[in-house]
Amino acid sequence: MRLSLFSRLALGYLVIFLLVTAVSAYAIFQLHRFDELTESVLKVDTRILEYEKILADSLLSQSRYEQKFTITKDEALYKQFLTLKQDFYVQLATALALGDSSAGTLLSKIHRDYQSYEELVAREAELLRKKKIYVQSQFKEEKNRIVDQMLASLEKLRADQQQATYTKVRELAEAAEQAREISVVITVGCLIVIVVMSLIVTRSITRPIGLLKSKTREIAQGHFEGGLQITSPPEIGELAAAFNLMCDKLRELERMKADFFSSMSHELRTPLTSIKEGTGLLLDGVGGETTDKQRKLLAILAEESNRLIGVVNSLLDLSKMDAGMMTYEFEWVSLDPLIRRAIAEITPLVEAKQISLESSVDLPLPAARIDPERILQVLRNLLGNAVKFTPKGGRVRVVAKPANGKLEVSVTDSGPGVPAESLTTIFEKFSQGSHKGAHARHGTGLGLAIAKTIIKSHGGEIWAESQLGRGSTFVFVLPC
Ligand code: ADP
Repeated sequence: MRLSLFSRLALGYLVIFLLVTAVSAYAIFQLHRFDELTESVLKVDTRILEYEKILADSLLSQSRYEQKFTITKDEALYKQFLTLKQDFYVQLATALALGDSSAGTLLSKIHRDYQSYEELVAREAELLRKKKIYVQSQFKEEKNRIVDQMLASLEKLRADQQQATYTKVRELAEAAEQAREISVVITVGCLIVIVVMSLIVTRSITRPIGLLKSKTREIAQGHFEGGLQITSPPEIGELAAAFNLMCDKLRELERMKADFFSSMSHELRTPLTSIKEGTGLLLDGVGGETTDKQRKLLAILAEESNRLIGVVNSLLDLSKMDAGMMTYEFEWVSLDPLIRRAIAEITPLVEAKQISLESSVDLPLPAARIDPERILQVLRNLLGNAVKFTPKGGRVRVVAKPANGKLEVSVTDSGPGVPAESLTTIFEKFSQGSHKGAHARHGTGLGLAIAKTIIKSHGGEIWAESQLGRGSTFVFVLPC
């Protein structure tokens, strides 16, 4: 299902809301039940027990008054009986009004019995007042029977109510226990549902974001291949589509850049090489006799074309490096011939500057897996810099030896040295150190950056050690 991020979150919150509402509704229902039971115990059962006591006491008092009246014929006693009779009816009606069904049946029976009893008492009082002869014991027996019957009913009422109260309290305790268990189950269930749902929603959001993140990293490293296949959630799906579009554009740009550099390399290098060759031929006298002045100018031309070819090569290397398109052809070879070749190439310049160039190579050097052309490029750069920065009469020394299971090559010169704060920055692109005045030299600030990339691509390390004014040593190590 392709739900949007908003819908996912909204749905998640809705489910949580419904679960919480369900738990709350259950809690409210249980509380209502407790309330009903408690109210029934407090308002009905306890009060019926109170009325039972009042009615029983009243009945016994009435019986005492009417019996005393039959003996003494004292009307005041009969009046007391009548007053209690009124109260009895009121209490009975109030108890009946409480509306308890089981108590209602007994109270109605008491009501009927009481009517018979008070009729009997009224009839006897009438006979007594008219001084008629009647069988007193018969009346007494009948009244006692009815009073006993009513007391038994009241007794039963009390027992029933106590039993009802006990049942309700037990019910209350059971309901509380049940509510506790159900609440725990519902709460745990809700928590599980909430956690699982949060995990699902979060995962469905973070997974595509994670994919986007790793793809962005790949792009940052210059890998534009392979699109992102994300369709859900739609917002991230759209982002992924835009991302894929961006990848396509970047791929296209990369291709255009590579095309541009290869054509530029051809366009710049070909005429520069022709200029260099032409100048060389003119210097060799192929174009006829040249004057000293012309020869000097031609020499400057040749040197500058060489320098330009070097700059173009460096720029091309740099762009390849940036595009991650630097290619290497690795092979297992010894560094010794490369060092000799680099020294041989620089020797004319060394002699022109009257510098002493020594080399110390621990033969035989172990073979290393290298791209010879690229390593030669590094050696040329380090030796070129050493000779460039070393003043006339100075010294340059090349040392190559195995060290700690690796191959170590160092180029030491007696030049101006590199300030401590520049020892690492000189390996960055376009960094040219801080040589001023006599030490300021032409350069692009690219040589060491390219050398570092080449050495790193060989799994090696390159660094500089120097004391200002006392020369510098550039060292690189290669696995072997
Ligand atoms: P470039 O020499 O073309 O400027 P590099 O990357 O080869 O570029 O060198 C960067 C900077 O490092 C130089 O400009 C210079 O300041 C410093 N440097 C390099 N080699 C030496 C050296 N042997 N002695 C003193 N400074 C050096």
